[in-house]
Amino acid sequence: MAKPFHVIVIGAGTGGMCLAHGLKQAGISVAVYERDRTRSDGLYGYRVGINPDGSRALHQCLPQDLYDTFVATCARGPRYFNMLDERLNEVLSLRLRDEADAVNSEKSVSRMTLRQVLLTGVEDIVHFGKTFERYETNPDGAVTAFFADGTSATGDLLVAADGTRSRVRRQYLPHAKVVSSGIISVGAKVALTEQTRELLPPKIRYGISTIFAPKGYFGILHVMEFPWGTDGKVKSGIGGTDAELIEQWPGLLYDNTHDYINWGFAASTKRFGEDVTRLRGEDLVERVRQMTPNWAPVFHTLLDHTDLSTAVVIDQATSEPIPAWTTTNVTLLGDAIHTMTPGRGVGANTALRDAALLTRRLTDARDGKLSLLDAVRRYETRMIDYGFKAVLDSRKQQSGDNPVHKPVIGRLVLAGMRTGMRVANHLPPFKKKMTDNLYRYRGAERDDE
Ligand SMILES: Cc1cc2nc3c(=O)[nH]c(=O)nc-3n(C[C@H](O)[C@H](O)[C@H](O)COP(=O)(O)OP(=O)(O)OC[C@H]3O[C@@H](n4cnc5c(N)ncnc54)[C@H](O)[C@@H]3O)c2cc1C
Repeated sequence: MAKPFHVIVIGAGTGGMCLAHGLKQAGISVAVYERDRTRSDGLYGYRVGINPDGSRALHQCLPQDLYDTFVATCARGPRYFNMLDERLNEVLSLRLRDEADAVNSEKSVSRMTLRQVLLTGVEDIVHFGKTFERYETNPDGAVTAFFADGTSATGDLLVAADGTRSRVRRQYLPHAKVVSSGIISVGAKVALTEQTRELLPPKIRYGISTIFAPKGYFGILHVMEFPWGTDGKVKSGIGGTDAELIEQWPGLLYDNTHDYINWGFAASTKRFGEDVTRLRGEDLVERVRQMTPNWAPVFHTLLDHTDLSTAVVIDQATSEPIPAWTTTNVTLLGDAIHTMTPGRGVGANTALRDAALLTRRLTDARDGKLSLLDAVRRYETRMIDYGFKAVLDSRKQQSGDNPVHKPVIGRLVLAGMRTGMRVANHLPPFKKKMTDNLYRYRGAERDDE
């Protein structure tokens, strides 16, 4: 056993909290400092797709009963991955696997619900209302973080898990840039009611649907159905253990998530107009309506039924990969070092993967198999490799520089893509290969590093 060490984590988001659970489970001293004032602050209401990478990381880091609660509080999983045109006609539809494996599988979760799961059972180590401002390295090698309220915290290792605009990164790696990808996205929720449920054909209702349209316009539709109703009570038909887990889980008290349809719309910043980031509510939804006159009437009906208070606009950011840096006792995980566009839907999953990997290396340091610095170095070497790869892959999928946004060539690219997909839609072996590739990319077959 090596000398015990203390880890301070800045940010109680997806990656920071997964790490905190992992270290707590490993008996490593850890404290988390979060700028939000309470556990229900912030806008965390939308869907996150947890892939096998993310799911395995949560399974590794959370205590078993909390992992089971995470699984029990997920929304019903999608059965289809659909590619549609702007009239919502099918271009390609892949049947997703029936997920028998509770760990190595895809899951749909509300961001708010995941946050509440991750904040369960660690109340003693999470400190709210602590806005990190700067750190200093002390003569004895320890590192001290200073907060806006005048307090400070000292540890042997400082982990930046403070997201895209990380203040730790700005001090530690000032040359690491986060830039706009040239894509703006708008998203909102429509309450799922008897009436709105009937708007969508079954494959869309039970699937994840992406819409590829002229001018590089992109849309996405998810239906999120949870095991509890609007009264906060477990729905009838939910199995015994899941029902018990949800009923006993204190996190539901802080969660305001109810069944909804989530729509998203993305386009290049040039098409949207720079002013869109200042729009809110009705004005934002109206902008999407004006940009989609030829889209299916049902898409506009969804816009009509939108809960305007949920409409958000995001100027999609992306990190610019940097070469490896010299390892010290300050490190980073998640969006703080590799912010990526949602092109591949792996931002949260990569943050979770980082947390699990760092937990394993710090456990090696706990056991005296590696020095603390070697543990961090080994973590950073792997993380920089897969993290920046994911950044570049995600940017390739969603970037204002993509040919689909160009006036003439964009039409040709879209037409070619649609023809290819329509043909593939009638070739079962090809569809199977595409499905296998999708699962492989999302980590279904990856060994833990
Ligand atoms: C609308 C939307 C949908 C998404 N969908 C998906 C998806 O389907 N799949 C997927 O994999 N990813 C998705 N992502 C990306 C994913 O949410 C992020 O990649 C992920 O949350 C990153 O986790 P993180 O821990 O690095 O940062 P975050 O979860 O952003 O956490 C950072 C935390 O640090 C805190 N903080 C910030 N500054 C300070 C400070 N100075 N002091 C103290 N605390 C601070 C913040 O309050 C926050 O709690 C989505 C993102 C958005 C916005």
